[in-house]
Amino acid sequence: MTAISPFTPLLEADIDAATRMFIGGEWVTAQGGETFDVHDPADGRVIAHVPAAQPADVDAAVAAARAALAPAGPWRTMTPQVRGRLLWKLADLVERDVERLSAIDSVDSGKPMDEMRYFDIPFSVDVLRYYAGWTTKITGDTIPISYPAGHGGTFHAYTLKEPVGVVAAIVPWNLPLLMAIKKLAPALATGCTIVVKPAEQTPLSIAALTQLTIEAGFPPGVINYVTGLGEVAGAALSRHRGVDKVTFTGSVPTGKDIVRAAADNLKRVSLELGGKSPNIVFDDADLDAVVAGAAAAAFATQGESCIAGSRLYVQRGVFDEVVRRLGEHAASIRLGRGTAEGTQMGPLISAEHRDRVLDYIKIGIDEGAELVTGGKAPTGQGYDGGYFVEPTVLINAAPEARIMHEEIFGPVVSAVAFDTEEEVLALANNTRFGLGAAVWTKDISRAHRMAAAIESGQVWVNCYQAADSALPFGGTKESGWGRETCRETLEEYLETKTVVVAL
Ligand code: NAP
Ligand code: MG
Repeated sequence: MTAISPFTPLLEADIDAATRMFIGGEWVTAQGGETFDVHDPADGRVIAHVPAAQPADVDAAVAAARAALAPAGPWRTMTPQVRGRLLWKLADLVERDVERLSAIDSVDSGKPMDEMRYFDIPFSVDVLRYYAGWTTKITGDTIPISYPAGHGGTFHAYTLKEPVGVVAAIVPWNLPLLMAIKKLAPALATGCTIVVKPAEQTPLSIAALTQLTIEAGFPPGVINYVTGLGEVAGAALSRHRGVDKVTFTGSVPTGKDIVRAAADNLKRVSLELGGKSPNIVFDDADLDAVVAGAAAAAFATQGESCIAGSRLYVQRGVFDEVVRRLGEHAASIRLGRGTAEGTQMGPLISAEHRDRVLDYIKIGIDEGAELVTGGKAPTGQGYDGGYFVEPTVLINAAPEARIMHEEIFGPVVSAVAFDTEEEVLALANNTRFGLGAAVWTKDISRAHRMAAAIESGQVWVNCYQAADSALPFGGTKESGWGRETCRETLEEYLETKTVVVAL
């Protein structure tokens, strides 16, 4: 098999796989045959025509997922140990195909290949193995009961842990494969079945993942894959009475739409939404680590990250130095096609999103912020037709400026000086989001005080974005409901059934 072009090292077979959906063990096109185009964000070229699922296709996928839950079927009768082995096999296959999957998500989402090779893929593999280990450890309890009085010992009561049922996973475009696997792994570990809908911009890696689930040996109907527009296919999944749970990562407005749609049959909903994460630097911090950490927090994945450290609060004594060094770092970042050798930051996902990010930079400046570096779409060779934005550092935005409150989801960081711990805590918590936060200090008491007082799902001290398959990840406030990648996540995919036997 050959790559389709030197700049787009995708295999014909990987493009071809994305022209179909996978429902009940069959590769199918959308009913009515409609498709939509997927673009390479580095130059705007169309790379694939992907089925646009209609509500009837969603019905078929949900019916297949439900049929695969039949009590005597191969999935429900499979032992937990065998289920765990299938997940482990899938992890091995993802690991085997690291270069192929890295190229697919790099071309499709724009991010540098090395981010795929050294973060998304190893983390995806680890998440699959972590949940593979859980399959044999999901147990209920036996519970001594005290009622009715005087009948102690005459009842035997216990709980069963059962899969919640059919799960719909609605996935964003920033880390397509990893986000899909964060949902797939606990769903399969608990014995649920699943319908996965990728974002319209980035279906290719999830088509490839679907192929690997077949190779791993999952029974037909357990994993279904539908491509389609959010307002059509995503909305049909969210309101579907045959879906028992939706797990979603994406924007706050779409998360709220999903909650409203889910109300009809009161399906469960987990939401991993956006953020406006504060990155807080005290003047005793190790500034080499701070600059590297703040740059990674702001510019990794082009800033298209729910945990981007987009608000940088720096204590006044070191503010000028941190801003100068961060600005130099930002200006030195090599922008380019994700698959090109040496690229440190790729293009944004779409022309529309690039324009939105550039608009936010303009709004920030109009509202009083000052530009330190970046601020434009680069021009010239290598950037034609692509959706690039320069890594951008702004300073001195007012506390109520829009850029301090709204998720920009691009390579833009706003640095602001502060004097005291109380002051920065109030600034940090002045947000409707609560996803990530970091504190840089050598004072261990202050580090713990801040970690306790910051309103967010995770706090990193002297690091940013440390992630592990065993660490709970999720948000408070409008950043979402529930946690991913941890033991508690299993409960979100399980029902508890209480059984009481009169002896
Ligand atoms: P989005 O609308 O939230 O899209 C995320 C997923 O939801 C996609 O699969 C999307 O499908 C689907 N979707 C859209 N409308 C839906 C609906 N009514 N019901 C069910 N599913 C629906 O995000 P976006 O429009 O691509 O990006 C907008 C902003 O969201 C970004 O600028 C960023 O601020 C935020 N975002 C956050 C994250 C995160 O990790 N927290 C990730 C991505 C984006 P389609 O792709 O077909 O629309
Ligand atoms: Mg959308």
